[in-house]
Amino acid sequence: MDIAVIGSNNVDLITYINRMPREGETLEAPKFQMGCGGKGANQAIAAARLGSRVLMLTRVGNDVFAENTVANFAANGVDTAHVLRTEASSGVAPIFVDPEGRNSILIVKGANGLLSPEDVADAAEDLAKTKLIVLQLEIPLETVYAAIEFGNARGIPVLLNPAPAHPELDLDRIKGCDYFMPNESELALLTGMPVENPEQAEEAARSLLDAGIRNIVVTLGSRGALWINKSQTKRIPAAPVAAVDTTGAGDAFIGCFSHCLVTGDDLSGGSAIFDRDLEAPGDVESALNAACRYAADSVTRLGTQTSYATREEFTAKAH
Ligand code: ADP
Repeated sequence: MDIAVIGSNNVDLITYINRMPREGETLEAPKFQMGCGGKGANQAIAAARLGSRVLMLTRVGNDVFAENTVANFAANGVDTAHVLRTEASSGVAPIFVDPEGRNSILIVKGANGLLSPEDVADAAEDLAKTKLIVLQLEIPLETVYAAIEFGNARGIPVLLNPAPAHPELDLDRIKGCDYFMPNESELALLTGMPVENPEQAEEAARSLLDAGIRNIVVTLGSRGALWINKSQTKRIPAAPVAAVDTTGAGDAFIGCFSHCLVTGDDLSGGSAIFDRDLEAPGDVESALNAACRYAADSVTRLGTQTSYATREEFTAKAH
């Protein structure tokens, strides 16, 4: 396996409405759609579509949504041996979209809230065979900390995407992660500093370096990304595109970065090259460049996972 994603899965229940019902009112809505989501699942699927071998450690419920999620992983080539059944509901997100495209979203964590440090320990044998552990914050913080400790103990690099922002995230317990990848609002919340432009993002990211985090990559939406470590600061330009729907862009970015980092693929066409020297800083930079191009491509299509190209689709177009 190339990558282990330890994180969430969700089923989006999207109702297109004319307006929200008032208290006690029953209304007809014109359209309903189901979609697979959850930050962990999104990142796993982006990496798998690009050709990485991805193991997903996650919990689904004991309901029909679980079948849907497992089938979706399998259809996208994500390994499901560690998709665990739970006596709870699956994670679901009822979403209401009005005619102007405005969203109201509820998130029910369900089984995601029960992924535990013991689950990480139970999967140790297979996790130890991976080259990168990828984490987000839609599972309990203790599980995130345990996964970082596991990666550190086994010498496996760890990437943490601190999304959604969690006010109780303990910076001391995440120092062991090799790549810390927030977006602008997550960085602002974590540091208590303003992050309205790339200069402020750099200053806020620098404060995390001072706190002991090794590599910080800030995604800056249509302004690309910023990579900072002790020895350098690099701006990665965004690919100019006509954005249609930016939901899931951050997950596309992380899935693609992970894929390129562990395989040495730079999505420049042809077949992926494997087993390059993964520690050279140039590899991180080319992975970040590819991630910016891939995430930009995803915002030109509607939806989250539905907007993630396969490697063949992506390299067939000029980027
Ligand atoms: P999130 O989805 O987590 O809020 P961002 O909005 O920072 O994350 O987007 C992640 C990445 O997606 C950016 O670093 C950039 O590479 C790409 N991206 C997002 N929006 C655009 C856009 N409008 N044009 C080009 N690239 C974009």
